[in-house]
Amino acid sequence: MWQQKWIIGNWKMNGSQSANRQLLQALLKPVDVAAAHVYCGVAVPNVYLAGVNEFTRDTSLAVGAQDVSRFAANGAFTGEVSAQMLADVGAQFVLIGHSERRQYFHEDNQELLIKLQNSMAAGLLPVLCVGETLAEREQGQEQVVVSAQLDVLASLGMREVVVAYEPVWAIGTGKVPSVTQIAAMHQLIYQQILSLCGEDVKIRVLYGGSVNAGNAAEILAVPHVDGALVGGASLQADSFAAIIQAA
Ligand code: PGA
Repeated sequence: MWQQKWIIGNWKMNGSQSANRQLLQALLKPVDVAAAHVYCGVAVPNVYLAGVNEFTRDTSLAVGAQDVSRFAANGAFTGEVSAQMLADVGAQFVLIGHSERRQYFHEDNQELLIKLQNSMAAGLLPVLCVGETLAEREQGQEQVVVSAQLDVLASLGMREVVVAYEPVWAIGTGKVPSVTQIAAMHQLIYQQILSLCGEDVKIRVLYGGSVNAGNAAEILAVPHVDGALVGGASLQADSFAAIIQAA
């Protein structure tokens, strides 16, 4: 898994029981064909976790969540879903700090640190999402911003780190950074993780933001791009399968 390319779909707040079944049915063959060299997963809405996990049991498709509660122990936290509950219904990984969570729910490093700790304690693999806004890039601040977001990893003692670099301005917009811009940022993220977590840490850095069947091969060939986090294109079986094949 640490040698493979990773292709993770992020369904966001999309799907229905019947649509999910159709999508998964169409995906499972390409996923199984690619299994030797690609680690494939889908991050699904919590209410569908158990169903998707049941459907994909005995296949190579991993199932994950898109967020986790900052509360660790069961209790009076109406509406919350803990990391242990996600693991209990089959989640193997969880997205942490997606830009939509940072934007709409004002998640900051203090909160994300707790979410990372809760995920690790429950045996979930966290996928930390980082990335700058357009205004931050236009001001030449993208490296400063992403470095500050990565600082949350400093005290965790992680031996395995998965980060998704997703420039906010590339998410759902059809705009993609140049290969040079992606390479520079992924190089920076690698260096930063090594300096925060030590030389023997295992690292996967995924690129996310308008990845599609047409651009996946070029993006996945960039140095230090270990995979992709795919939003919109993961909702269409043929597009997602083509991205998996491109890896
Ligand atoms: P997109 O979303 O592929 O639709 O740009 C990516 C993401 O938000 O993870």
